[in-house]
Amino acid sequence: MNLILLGPPGAGKGTQAKRLEDKFKIVQLSTGDMLRAAIASGSEVGLKAKNIIDSGGLVSDDIMVQMISERVDEPDCKNGFILDGFPRTVAQAEALDVMLADKGLQIDHVIELKVDEGILFDRIRTRIAETPEAERRSDDNEETLKKRLDVFKEQTAPIIPYYADKGALKTVDGMASIDEVSAQIDTIVAA
Ligand code: ATP
Repeated sequence: MNLILLGPPGAGKGTQAKRLEDKFKIVQLSTGDMLRAAIASGSEVGLKAKNIIDSGGLVSDDIMVQMISERVDEPDCKNGFILDGFPRTVAQAEALDVMLADKGLQIDHVIELKVDEGILFDRIRTRIAETPEAERRSDDNEETLKKRLDVFKEQTAPIIPYYADKGALKTVDGMASIDEVSAQIDTIVAA
C-alpha cells in the first residue's frame, strides 16, 4: 500500500505517518527528515538545501524528485510507503505520476489533513516553545513560519485540486484529536 499524506506545516502528517508505519509495516518517507539528514551529513544536496529550508522556501523540484525516486527503489519500500512532505508542487505531483508509472507502482490513497490556518500557527508556536533550543529545527521560528504557510498556500495547495480532479483525494478533519484522525485514516485505507 502506497499513500500520500497532504497538508500544511503542523497539520500532523508526521504523527499520522508514524502510526501508519507501525500499523501497516510500510515506510514513512519524510522529505523534510531526508533533507535534514542530508544537511547533517554535509552532502552536496544538504549544502544546497540548508539556506532554502532556513528561509522557508522550497528545494528545487529536480532535487526532490530524484531523492524520492531513489528512495522508493530501496528494499524497505517493497511493502509500501507513505509520502510525507512530497509532492509539494504541481510539478512534483506530475513528475511523481510519471516516475511511479515507470516503476510499475501506484498510489492507493491521497489523504489530505485539513486544518485552519490559525490553528497551524498555534500548534507550531507550541512546538517551538516546548522544544529546547538546541533541539529546535532551524526553520521553526516566527519569521519562517509565516513564509512556510504562504509557500504552502501558493505552491502546495494547488496539488489538492490536482488529485481531486483525478478522483484520488480523501479529506480528513485534521483538527480532530490524534486518535480520531487516525480512525478516519484507517477507514479510508480499509475501503
Ligand atoms: P511539519 O511542520 O509538519 O514538519 P513542514 O512542512 O514545516 O511540516 P518539513 O516537511 O519537515 O516541514 O519540511 C521542511 C522544509 O524542507 C520545507 O520548508 C522545505 O524547505 C523543504 N522541503 C521538504 N519537502 C520538500 C519538497 N517536497 N519540495 C521542496 N522542498 C521541500
